[in-house]
Amino acid sequence: MGRLINIHTHHPTGRHLEPQGVGIHPWDADKTSLDVSIFQDAELIGEIGLDYACTTDRKAQEELFCRQLAVAEERRLPVVIHCVKAFEPILKLLLKHKIERVVFHGFIGSVEQAAKAVENGYFLSYGFCTERSTKTIKALQATPLSNLFAETDTTPRPIEEAYEMICKIKGCSHEELQWAIEQNYNRLFSINDK
Ligand SMILES: [Zn+2]
Repeated sequence: MGRLINIHTHHPTGRHLEPQGVGIHPWDADKTSLDVSIFQDAELIGEIGLDYACTTDRKAQEELFCRQLAVAEERRLPVVIHCVKAFEPILKLLLKHKIERVVFHGFIGSVEQAAKAVENGYFLSYGFCTERSTKTIKALQATPLSNLFAETDTTPRPIEEAYEMICKIKGCSHEELQWAIEQNYNRLFSINDK
């Protein structure tokens, strides 16, 4: 099957491409103060974002998110977004900061939201939560192969299973999906074809 890309995992296996971002999670927005020196060697900023389902103060989340987006903008780094019930406000802030290389990790949302993300050239990463959400299954069906990633997030399940799930829902072959995700990875990190 070759080397796969797991765009967001908290349990790296070392067997695949598993990029690790640097950033402060919205859950920690009211516990941590941001020291931008953490981004010194960062190639990816994440996971950052907004979570309107948690109890962390929203103003604190928004302020932290904006500060990290400003770093991403200034250093032209890709971002991995944690988005829970905050799609519209996140979209607004991404556009305000002119962030172009964006992955919504663990995307849960509607066809309309997926279309809006794709319209802006963003990527949607699908994990095992997809299977439990009818609207997200439809969103995945509507997401072009050129705008998606696969992930395992906090689960210990292998990335192969996430690829299989996506192939089944989208009705594509493993080879097609693997090729598409490789191209997406290259675009996310601005790695040009030789
Ligand atoms: Zn997350």
